[in-house]
Parts: sequence; C-alpha cells; structure tokens
Amino acid sequence: MRIVVLGAGLIGVASAWFLAEDGHEVVVVDRQPGPALETSFANGGQISTSHAEPWANPATPLKILKWLGREDSPLLWRLRADPAQWAWGLRFLRECSPVRTRANIRAILALALDSRARLKTLRQELGLEYDCRERGILHFYTDQMEFERALPQAALMREFGCERMPKSAAECLSIEPALAHAAAPIVGGTYTADDESGDAHRFAATLAERCVARGVRFRFDATLAAVEHAGNAVSAVRLANGEKLQADAYVVALGSYTSLLLRPLGISLPVYPAKGYSITIPLAPDAAAPTVSLTDDGAKLVYSRLGARLRVAGTAEFAGYDTQLNDARIAALLYRTRQIFPGLAFADGAVERWAGLRPATPSNVPCIGPTRLGKLYVNTGHGTLGWTMAVGSGRLLADHVAGKASALDPSPYLPQP
Ligand SMILES: Cc1cc2nc3c(=O)[nH]c(=O)nc-3n(C[C@H](O)[C@H](O)[C@H](O)COP(=O)(O)OP(=O)(O)OC[C@H]3O[C@@H](n4cnc5c(N)ncnc54)[C@H](O)[C@@H]3O)c2cc1C
Repeated sequence: MRIVVLGAGLIGVASAWFLAEDGHEVVVVDRQPGPALETSFANGGQISTSHAEPWANPATPLKILKWLGREDSPLLWRLRADPAQWAWGLRFLRECSPVRTRANIRAILALALDSRARLKTLRQELGLEYDCRERGILHFYTDQMEFERALPQAALMREFGCERMPKSAAECLSIEPALAHAAAPIVGGTYTADDESGDAHRFAATLAERCVARGVRFRFDATLAAVEHAGNAVSAVRLANGEKLQADAYVVALGSYTSLLLRPLGISLPVYPAKGYSITIPLAPDAAAPTVSLTDDGAKLVYSRLGARLRVAGTAEFAGYDTQLNDARIAALLYRTRQIFPGLAFADGAVERWAGLRPATPSNVPCIGPTRLGKLYVNTGHGTLGWTMAVGSGRLLADHVAGKASALDPSPYLPQP
C-alpha cells in the first residue's frame, strides 16, 4: 500500500519505520525542515514506564486549586474562552477518580512496557546512538507526604508489571550520589532499574535516516492545509501550496495539532496542548551532575544526562497553542536545579531554553487506530510519555493498517467514534 504519514515527530517517524518494515511505500510530510523539531525536540529524555501515573489522579484537583494563578506552579491552568479547553478540563476531572486512574495506569503501562522492550531491540538491531543511558530511573522525594503517597502507586505499577521498587533515602543516595548535597534533603524514593534515558531528537533523526535507507520519502517544509474526503473515505491531503497527495491510507501524527486538523471532518479527538519547558545545561567534564535519570516528583521535573549535557524538563501549562517562553517558569526550573544540585556550577547565559506542546488527552492514554473515516488513522495524544511510548505506538499503528493482531490489546487506545 502507499501510505502518507502526517507529522515527523517521534510518533510519525516510529510509525513510518514499522509501516516500511511491513513492506508499504511510505511518504512522511512535515512543515519543519527536519524530523522532531517541535514537541519531540528537547523533552525530558526519559523512557519512563515508572511515570505511568497520569496527571489526572485523585490528588490532582486539590493541587490545581492550590496552584491556581501561581506563575511558577508545576501545573498551571490559564483559563481561556476556548470551549475545547473547558471540554478537555471537564473530561480531565472525570479521569481523576480512583477507578479511572487505575484503568489508565494499566493501559499506559501496557503500552509503555511493550514500547520499552521494542526500543531496546530496535536499538540493538539498528545500532542506534542517541546518548542512551541504561541506568534506570530514580523517582526521588523531598516531601514525606509525597513519598508516602507514591508508595501505593509504585505497588500498583508492580502489580501491572513495572518493577518500581521503594528505596530509603540512603539507598537513593547510593544509586545517585550527586543527590547527596541537595538543599532540600531527599526523604526516599523509588527505583526502576529497566527504565532508561536518551536524546529523543537524536533518536528520531537517526531513525528517520534508517527509514530513508529503507525507502521512506520525507517531504519537509511542507505544511498540511486540509484532509479532503469523498463520501466516507479520505480522498487526498492538501498542502498549503495547493499540491494534493493521494494514498491508500493516511496516518495523522501531528501531535497537538491533530485535533485542529480533524475537527472540520467531524472527528473530535480529546487532544489539547499541555505546554512544558526544558533547560539544557552544558557540563564541564568534572561537573557534579547526576548520571542516573531522575524524577523529582513533587516539583514535576525530570533530569536526564545526555552526554555532556544535563536536560531538566517538566511543568505543565494549559494555555492553548502558545509556545513562547515564560521567564517565571524557566526561573523555577533553574532554581530547583540549583537547589537539588548546589555543586553544579553553571551560568544562566549558557543554558538552552525551550518550550513544547505535549499532545495531551485527559487520561494520558493515547489515541491509536482507525477513525470513522475510511483510510484515516491516528497516532497521537501521548502527552507526558510520547518518547516512552513511541516505538510501541508505531508498531501498534502498523498492525492496525495491516489488519493483523497485535501483541497488545489495542482496545484501550482506539479513538472514540
Ligand atoms: C517539557 C517536556 C518534557 C517531556 N519529557 C518527556 C520524557 O521525559 N519522556 C517521554 O516519554 N515524553 C516526554 N515528553 C512528551 C513527548 O515529548 C511528546 O509526547 C512527544 O514528543 C509527542 O510526539 P509527536 O510526534 O506526537 O508530536 P510532535 O513531536 O509535535 O510531532 C508532530 C509533528 O507534526 C508537524 N506538524 C504539525 N502541524 C503540521 C501541519 N499543519 N503540516 C505539517 N506538519 C505539521 C510538526 O512539525 C511536528 O514535527 C515531554 C514533553 C515536554 C513538552
């Protein structure tokens, strides 16, 4: 089959890889000059099955109220006159019930574990290099109550197959000695030895090269204007320059922009942008920087060592499609990094700053599969875990297109009609 994949982020590139592996003729379209230059560009770098607890959980509504209007808060709602934002917010609140949270953790973990295993295999098979570190992920806590709340979550994840083990404060420091001087002392943590980290942009760019070697064509600098249909099936996609591309199947992997593109077709996906920030700190050879990837759960930040750089990323702001940098939120990242690693000397001017829009569903469970319009598939809504779930999502999408059974139960991820 001839297949057009819309979007060359982590999800589009992973989809293209598996579609090409299945023998299809694949064309990938993206408005940027290369792969993974939007949300997949400078994320937290974690392959973190252990981060499967969605933002929508029983503890969140109270926290959001507490943080409302605070510019530096980990989760910030900027209320707008936008019906899509309000509808998304109401669905988010519904996902906060204990029953929904449990079901969502189960679905996220199933895909994340499958994806992590496939990533390890793909990396070995293709010899992919992207500053990967296989040293596990340590969630650490500086607040006793947050730590105690994390323990049942970790137990639930173990029940679903993720080996997220509780650790005392002393054990945390022996896993990552760079935490020893934190100005906010570590009270405990959990450690997941099989989780890992790496540079998502480098990964996507390298996999895109392998795709090209396999015959995939990339059309960069090509903005998609509309999906056209005749009756109940897609007939073509139209680019901004008027050119039309036709195929036997179309895969929409446009991240946060997927819902905007599909709305005129009457397809309503619950995907809304959740803006996040990252800073990338260049490290001196003797820097007192962590080598294990870390999650600072209370501050909603992650730290990943990417070669001679430290990436610090996180926080969420529901503010529509705006990607401008907010000084207060960047300052909060810098402040917390210095608080946790006081020995890490760096000048603010040397730090790279970035913001991206996570394609978030209210449950953090992505939408993968066919839509009610013939030939049209979606692969989006991966929210906080798009890098963790990318490879498994690419495989699952390719299985849908091929009409063959998947290793995973595909039902939790099917887009709602
Ligand atoms: C601060 C931050 C930290 C994160 N940390 C992690 C982490 O540690 N681990 C993890 O697993 N995940 C993390 N994530 C989430 C992860 O980065 C995302 O889920 C993932 O990048 C989404 O990939 P995507 O391919 O769906 O979207 P994108 O990367 O945004 O790709 C969509 C593509 O579509 C293209 N496009 C859009 N509209 C058009 C159009 N009209 N025409 C043509 N092209 C178009 C864009 O150019 C883009 O390349 C983080 C995200 C953020 C913001």
